[in-house]
Amino acid sequence: MSKNKSSEAVKVVVRCRPLSRKEESTGPAGGIVQMDLRLGQVILRNPRAPPSEPQKTFTFDAVYDSSSKQRDLYDESVRPLIDSVLAGFNGTIFAYGQTGTGKTYTMQGLWLDPEKQGVIPNAFDHIFTHISRSQSDKQYLVRASYLEIYLEEIRDLLDPNHGNTRGLELRESPETGVYVQDLTSCVCKSIKEIEEVMNVGNQARAVGATDMNEHSSRSHALFLITVECSQPGPDGRKHIRVGRLNLVDLAGSERQAKTGVQGDRLKEAAKINLSLSALGNVISALADGRSSHVPYRDSKLTRLLQDSLGGNAKTVMVATVGPAPQHYDETLTTLRYANRAKNIQNQPRVNEDPKDALLREFQKEIARLRAQLNHRRFRSKQKKEQVDGEAWERDGDEEGEELEEEEVEKEAEEFVKLEEQRLEKENEAIREDQFLLAEEKQKLLGENEKMMGDLRKRQEATEQLTARYKAMESKLLVGGKNIIDHTNEQQKMLEMKRQEIAEQTRREREMQQQMLVQDEEAVELRETFTSLQQEVEAKTKKLKKLYAKLQCTKAEIKDVNDEHVRSRQELEQTQNELTRELKFKYLIIENFIPPEEKNKIMNRLMFDPDEDEWKFKPLVPEESKSSQMKKRPLSAVGYKRPISQYARVAMAKGTHPRYRAENIKLLELDMTPPNTSALTDGEQNQSPTLNNSPSNDKGICKSRSWYQSQKSITSSSSNNSLLFI
Ligand code: ADP
Ligand code: MG
Repeated sequence: MSKNKSSEAVKVVVRCRPLSRKEESTGPAGGIVQMDLRLGQVILRNPRAPPSEPQKTFTFDAVYDSSSKQRDLYDESVRPLIDSVLAGFNGTIFAYGQTGTGKTYTMQGLWLDPEKQGVIPNAFDHIFTHISRSQSDKQYLVRASYLEIYLEEIRDLLDPNHGNTRGLELRESPETGVYVQDLTSCVCKSIKEIEEVMNVGNQARAVGATDMNEHSSRSHALFLITVECSQPGPDGRKHIRVGRLNLVDLAGSERQAKTGVQGDRLKEAAKINLSLSALGNVISALADGRSSHVPYRDSKLTRLLQDSLGGNAKTVMVATVGPAPQHYDETLTTLRYANRAKNIQNQPRVNEDPKDALLREFQKEIARLRAQLNHRRFRSKQKKEQVDGEAWERDGDEEGEELEEEEVEKEAEEFVKLEEQRLEKENEAIREDQFLLAEEKQKLLGENEKMMGDLRKRQEATEQLTARYKAMESKLLVGGKNIIDHTNEQQKMLEMKRQEIAEQTRREREMQQQMLVQDEEAVELRETFTSLQQEVEAKTKKLKKLYAKLQCTKAEIKDVNDEHVRSRQELEQTQNELTRELKFKYLIIENFIPPEEKNKIMNRLMFDPDEDEWKFKPLVPEESKSSQMKKRPLSAVGYKRPISQYARVAMAKGTHPRYRAENIKLLELDMTPPNTSALTDGEQNQSPTLNNSPSNDKGICKSRSWYQSQKSITSSSSNNSLLFI
């Protein structure tokens, strides 16, 4: 399976957005971020520090300043990654930074302006252009999924019911690594279709959020594209390569203010940056190289990106920063974070012939449908030739032979038409035949009618099969076919030239960076001193340089310490709030829930690590539930509870109330009319039913019947009228 096991570092690029109008008008003048594009360096000035303090310098694979174009970033830093995905590698691009620094702008950009389209639309264009230009022996299948992680729940943005259902689960398989179970994935045949998928997802994201900005700065969005490509290998068999591309727009990395939050909001606050801090921990553990445990399992995001960080993938991280002085701390944190990520080593390899390739299934299904169709057509053709009186001389195995599709379809249609005409003629002849009896005529006509019906049914089935076959086949994209109209040669050349230039700039920068390092090392070796004075001068210079470096490192250590203290304080604050909440719950439990009830509940509780939740064990164990609950004891069949033989006999005989089992009331209809006598009737008429009741003497209350004959209704109504007047 593996072709290339060499490891490669995560590529980290930094992008700085221009000062916004608001920042220009309200904040102090000038940005704090300077960039050396040639060397790939970011120089950060601390607005609060005295001018003598040295500025902080970070070096990255590439840097893009506020005047950079979307296209520059794509061609130089993203294009090689997408090419790798098309060759069967896993690829990930993620944008990291404070809210409002341009993560979404970099990933999506402004869709309507081709100049300002971000990484995602450019990647769509790239993928489908590549497919249209590849050789015709290649077949492609492109799928897309879109999900977001909000408050540690995975939501499928392409599922219309995602708002009502619970979050999706993560699963792991040795073949594909970590994946999301039941995630919708759409087969896309063109740029338009994949853009549609993106739009549907974006709308779902917007609808799901009460406050869009707030929501999007707290949720991570992942757009996943799988490109499967099948190509005949030197052994003549078709080989499939699967490239998976994750395009990730992370939540804003700034610290969420956590003051005065309680209950659900507290839970939310605790979860908001869980994924991000887990991501930071994973990056630290990987960059450190010494820690044996990488805490991927701490959050959904890190589990999903497990392969992208230190695994089988090529990864590009775009760290976005803003130039405004008021965000100095955040910018510094982002740059440090990005600097650490540079040290992560991945082991990308081509995913060749994985078992779960959907393309293989599609190919099999298409081959099956095609065989079925050919078989049908072959049969029709055979019949036609028999009808035409031609001898069928060819071999039977030729039925699998690939016939010219359209021709065969036409032939089959013609055959059906001819056959219909023939049957119609036969019908005519039968009707006009005077030697046949009416009964025989009817029979022959009926037979013909049946044949006609069969023919139509067969034709319909073939049509359905053809439609299914065509629909299946249309999902596969074949190289060499023009699915995009702008694939003329000139443009191709232009793009290639642009790529070459981008590649050259990249190499130049790498060389410059290497030269800088080597220069420092070589200075020592080259030094030969002619005089003592010269030696002193040179060494003083060097001392100064080293002293400045020492100061920088000291400042760095202080900064890191400060940051740790700050984050520790925040964690302590969260912990205090959680402890308070916990104590409150304990108080309620201790004072309002009886101890035996509490014990019962405690005994039934268990923790489900998959769903990260406490759950109740079922009251009756699953396996015994079915056998235990279904049967009633023999003595209780037909009764609510077991009953003795004596009681049953007594009950059958009837009268004694003790043996009336459950039903101690007599429910037979009592035809005596209700007491509706007038008040004037006096006391002697009170409750006649009770007095006259035959069961009264037995001490049983007999249910009254309100059935009344026609006669008694009239009498009672007249009585009633007497009553109410
Ligand atoms: P985030 O997703 O990081 O919260 P956005 O991408 O929404 O930030 O960017 C915030 C604003 O800044 C948007 O109005 C966007 O148009 C603008 N912006 C960001 N980056 C750039 C850039 N490189 N050039 C021009 N405008 C930018
Ligand atoms: Mg955003």
